[in-house]
Amino acid sequence: MKFWFITGSQFLYGEDTLKQVEKNSKAIVKGLKLPFPVRYKLTAKTEAEIEKVMKEANADDDCAGVITFCHTFSPSKMWINGLALLQKPWLHLHTQFNETIPNEEIDMDYMNLHQSAHGDREHGFIGARLRAPRSVVAGYWKSPEVQEKIAQWQRAAIGAAFSRSLRIIRFGDNMREVAVTEGDKVEVQLKLGWQVNTWGVGDLVREMDAVTETEIDELMKEYAELYTFKKKDTEVIRCQAREEIAIEKMLLREGAHAFTDTFQDLHGMKQLPGLAAQHLMAKGYGFGAEGDWKTAGLTAVVNAMYPDGAASFMEDYTYDYKHELILGAHMLEVCPRIAADKPRIEVHPLGIGDREPPARLVFEGIEGEAKALSLVDMGGRLRLIAQDVTCHKPISDMPNLPVARAMWRPAPNFYDGLECWILAGGAHHTVLTHDMTDRALRDFARIMDIELVTINADTTPKGLERELKIGDLIYKR
Ligand code: MN
Repeated sequence: MKFWFITGSQFLYGEDTLKQVEKNSKAIVKGLKLPFPVRYKLTAKTEAEIEKVMKEANADDDCAGVITFCHTFSPSKMWINGLALLQKPWLHLHTQFNETIPNEEIDMDYMNLHQSAHGDREHGFIGARLRAPRSVVAGYWKSPEVQEKIAQWQRAAIGAAFSRSLRIIRFGDNMREVAVTEGDKVEVQLKLGWQVNTWGVGDLVREMDAVTETEIDELMKEYAELYTFKKKDTEVIRCQAREEIAIEKMLLREGAHAFTDTFQDLHGMKQLPGLAAQHLMAKGYGFGAEGDWKTAGLTAVVNAMYPDGAASFMEDYTYDYKHELILGAHMLEVCPRIAADKPRIEVHPLGIGDREPPARLVFEGIEGEAKALSLVDMGGRLRLIAQDVTCHKPISDMPNLPVARAMWRPAPNFYDGLECWILAGGAHHTVLTHDMTDRALRDFARIMDIELVTINADTTPKGLERELKIGDLIYKR
């Protein structure tokens, strides 16, 4: 996907100025080193041009967003109709072609040409007046900090485009009696675009039966390259390979990028998907256990924003109060994208689900700064909760723990962090991401028009309680 760059100007300063504006705009576009391409579209001078280009942006499936910048003054009433129609994410880049002021040469011609400090204020007003959701980035366009901010907005816009076309397959329903994995699928489709639908586990079993031994041989080769395992476990692992191939075929057929399953509905299956779900997540698919389609969708969106990133479906499990750490894991399904070392495939009995001992990947998670994300349905609205966490190397080997694991301390500190998460209603299932930035998250939530609750070094339980009450006021509609 591409981003469109539109420069604001007007006819007032003459043809020469407009030519220079266009030349400089193209130089800016060329100088932006971003994860996704930007295309210079036009220097806008009239209401008709602006309306036309915004309609084109809406209609072009390859256009992921629009970047505007006013090189000169560009009267904003001519932007109203176009901006009111714009449905794509909008970034107002408040920059200037030159970094400094040339003291000797500066005259009124120079002032007319280089007046984004002036023109971008007019442009900013109309954005505010229209209550248009937009991201604003201020600073010199060559600076790495400015370019990184644009890059994070691009990732949010790409995530939004992906989200609006995301299909999620549910094998079986949500785990019985669980509240937090429930949600209003109609509201989610309206806000996030997700199409969440169910397929019978029997359909998956029929697909599994049709998988050939040759197909399984191929996938076993891939497993052998990526992971270590014992020869005696081969048959159990082949069962997971069969499940993975069948699930992926159904995902591809339906154009889906995320799925859920549940240990309470495995009719006709020998094993709960463990390795199968983990390897599919490593390929970029979203996954949620126990029917958790919200976390499945969120994992897929995070992977779309950071295609080579380290993110996983995760679950807060147990505490170490002495070291002030959370031990996170799941009964099987943690993504090897967050593995610190080469994962091992192991086979162990599973206490629940009443099936054969499944093969799963076992490893320790990487260290470093990360975020835990949770999407909850507050009744009438979605709340995206994001907590800053610091991942640590697990404090001991835990030789009897037969699953992948990670340990982390939440911000602002362990106990306040826990209180804040509980106050906000954050789930036990999360997406643990090592790439997501505050900026990208804020941009994404604004584009999707959902509530964002962040818990970071500056958060206090007292302040958060008030913020949550304000959220109720803002989003009650
Ligand atoms: Mn769970």
